[in-house]
Amino acid sequence: MIAACPHVAAMAPYALADMTVAPGKPLISLAQNESAFPPSPLAIDAAREALSGAALYPDPDWTDLRTAIADTHALNPEKILCGAGSMELIGALIQAFAGPGDTVLASEHSYAFFRTAAQIAGAAYLVAAETDLTVDVDALLANVTGNTRIVCVANPGNPTGTRIPRADLIRLRDGLSDDVLLLIDEAYGEFSKDAEPVWDLVQQGDTAVLRTFSKAYGLAGLRAGWGYLPDSVATEVRKLLNPNNISIVTQAAATAAMRDQIYMRGIVDRTAAIRGRFCAGLTEVGLPTPDSHTNFVLIPLKDPDAAISADTALRAEGILMRGMGGYGLPHCLRATIGPEPHMVRTLDLLREWKETQP
Ligand SMILES: *Cc1c(COP(=O)(O)O)cnc(C)c1O
Repeated sequence: MIAACPHVAAMAPYALADMTVAPGKPLISLAQNESAFPPSPLAIDAAREALSGAALYPDPDWTDLRTAIADTHALNPEKILCGAGSMELIGALIQAFAGPGDTVLASEHSYAFFRTAAQIAGAAYLVAAETDLTVDVDALLANVTGNTRIVCVANPGNPTGTRIPRADLIRLRDGLSDDVLLLIDEAYGEFSKDAEPVWDLVQQGDTAVLRTFSKAYGLAGLRAGWGYLPDSVATEVRKLLNPNNISIVTQAAATAAMRDQIYMRGIVDRTAAIRGRFCAGLTEVGLPTPDSHTNFVLIPLKDPDAAISADTALRAEGILMRGMGGYGLPHCLRATIGPEPHMVRTLDLLREWKETQP
């Protein structure tokens, strides 16, 4: 039997959500931070239309998509790369710039795929402590060594939902040497309406800013993400992307979705309103949550046993949250904000569960 390369054999498979519920119950998934709402009708129309051209390979340069992104965010289209989900870009960025002997640094409760991508690259993965479930720039800087090639920050964070201001990201950038890559993952950037953009950091040292169509645009199933990168970084990352990485249907849908900012803003506002009511209810029940700037909330319970007990009670009724043991938060559950009736039902069940607790 052929043996895998040692660094691959040593890896655990990537842990997606456990989707098992009690038999016979309709499944309500609050486990994967998918949009509570469908994509823009214009995106659906564009996808349907593009399908008839499926005999041909897609545009390998994502020309329409890049133009739509550049127009919307006032960016230089030449500095944009598109991926089959931002995960493809995270993987390629880490593989391009970190290998055996190098370290990828992230914060304590960071997005799990950073670790996986570092392992795929054969690089060491190190985490710096967070303060109040929030990225701590000083702790990150204190953990930088001569081997640190990449520092990853998801802002807002997943699974914490918290964010740090632009000023902190600038302080982090200023504290790093120019040739350490700062990867800023803004998968939930659209949910922070008042946050100042950080695109300009791409001109200050080696900084990459990533976004996705999977969350606020409701296109997780089509796989599209994008990054804004310095030219020299983009040149190397591009070599590692699959040629023709984004299907013709996905490119058409994502382009139309990007051009329909009004629809996306509506989704963000409705999601925030549902989140506000859900969190207020949780606080009433005695389960306050950290401030979320995303389409999910982290729910801290008393201890890991309480988290398992609450998860079990919800699963028995068909509601799936995400256990946070893999993120160093075994006393927490993470709940995606779904449609209002799902969140009302979830809150009712948590209230009932809480009454059973000593
Ligand atoms: C959901 C998510 C992604 C996005 O993944 P896609 O591959 O674009 O679907 C990236 N980063 C974070 C922090 C996420 O939560």
